[in-house]
Amino acid sequence: MAALLSEQYEETCLWQDQVTPPAPTPGDLPPSADLVVVGAGLCGLAAAAVGARAGLTVVVLDKEPLGWGASSRNGGMVIPELKAGPGRLQQRYGHLGLEMFRQVNEAYDYVADLTSTEIDCDFREAGLLLLAHSPFQTSAVEHEAADLTAHGEPAHFLRRQQLVTEIGSRAFSAGMLLERTGGLHPAKFHAGMARRAMAAGARVHDRTAATHIAGRSGRHQVMTTRGPIDAREVFIATNAYADDVLPWLRRRTTPVSSYIIATEVLDRELLRSVTPTGRMMVDTKNFLFYWRSTPDGRIAFGGRRSLDPVDVPTARDFLYDAMLRLHPQLTGTAVDYAWGGNVALTLDRMPHAGCHDGIWYATGCNGSGVATNTWLGARVAETITGQAELPAVARLRHRAVPLATLSSSYLPLVSRWFSWQDSR
Ligand SMILES: Cc1cc2nc3c(=O)[nH]c(=O)nc-3n(C[C@H](O)[C@H](O)[C@H](O)COP(=O)(O)OP(=O)(O)OC[C@H]3O[C@@H](n4cnc5c(N)ncnc54)[C@H](O)[C@@H]3O)c2cc1C
Repeated sequence: MAALLSEQYEETCLWQDQVTPPAPTPGDLPPSADLVVVGAGLCGLAAAAVGARAGLTVVVLDKEPLGWGASSRNGGMVIPELKAGPGRLQQRYGHLGLEMFRQVNEAYDYVADLTSTEIDCDFREAGLLLLAHSPFQTSAVEHEAADLTAHGEPAHFLRRQQLVTEIGSRAFSAGMLLERTGGLHPAKFHAGMARRAMAAGARVHDRTAATHIAGRSGRHQVMTTRGPIDAREVFIATNAYADDVLPWLRRRTTPVSSYIIATEVLDRELLRSVTPTGRMMVDTKNFLFYWRSTPDGRIAFGGRRSLDPVDVPTARDFLYDAMLRLHPQLTGTAVDYAWGGNVALTLDRMPHAGCHDGIWYATGCNGSGVATNTWLGARVAETITGQAELPAVARLRHRAVPLATLSSSYLPLVSRWFSWQDSR
């Protein structure tokens, strides 16, 4: 179905349209720095602030304009999640699994704390509704709620009739409410993180790509499109936009697109009929939908139909159709914005961080990095400055993704398999 578009419809990101990012540091690149961070998203900026506060000279580079990346164009859901619950993590990784579960909750606390003490970005602990898209998923959702509760995370299983007060949709057979999930305004949060890093003393240079890193541990030369910088330490925080600045890292993620539409501002009653409690909402499919109300009273509805990239109008029409099937009360509601961005998938669907050949990195959000990647950036910088140890995910084996080279022939097959599973 073709989406109904408003007169002011734009193929741009709602959040970015509402916020002007801070001006980057003026002037030339310095010839040297203690720490060069590649990537000015949440991960790189969190690292920069830690490094600068510890007294390092820090330079952050981004090849795009500041505020362009996934960090200011996401769904704004702050979720303490890995792609498996604590029980499955423990089964798969033993004690390390529980440590990773504890740290992803630490990541959530870290962002929640930043938003209450340092960065004003409309954060609200709204709670997450995980919605069973078919009756086959009901027992899995019930099990997940029990598993989380047993591990100290308040989660409640909700039967179909209990969902009535949580969501205005008859499409779901059951759900789970996870209390510790928040919603924020992504572009405000990202701009706040950039200001915070610069206030700590970090220099942030955008439109400057790192192209190559020469030398290894101890002394590196970071080649950039604006000249070289000598660096004692280098941290790569490029997530889904990884390129050949560190080919080893690029081979360990597959970039996959995700898209979001934002409706026009809704009448209060209509908005309440969709989301009476203002939860963050996600369903249980492989190709999941995620949606929420925005601070200015719209519905932002995101997802993807397959692993292949499509153009924004195609994704927009697909999402609009899906939104109306879940919430028929939105029939006649127009779309003001549609946009997309990339998330980084790893082979084991876990985030990774560590040090390869003397170069630090954190990557692999697997669609959920507002909390995790921010915290990983801070934690890696704490490791560099001797304040902490690498996060638990650094102990995972970090394997290359064969799909990164086979993607054009392989991804459509994986997509079809996921879609078939989702249709059950
Ligand atoms: C549409 C969408 C919806 C999402 N929704 C959610 C959500 O609701 N909740 C959630 O937790 N997560 C969500 N995510 C994921 C989340 O946005 C990311 O995990 C997070 O922003 C990653 O932050 P980052 O700093 O690691 O990477 P990014 O913000 O992507 O920053 C990486 C930066 O590296 C730069 N770069 C790359 N190569 C170079 C180079 N050679 N030189 C210089 N710069 C370089 C890029 O320009 C980019 O700005 C979503 C993502 C998308 C795209």
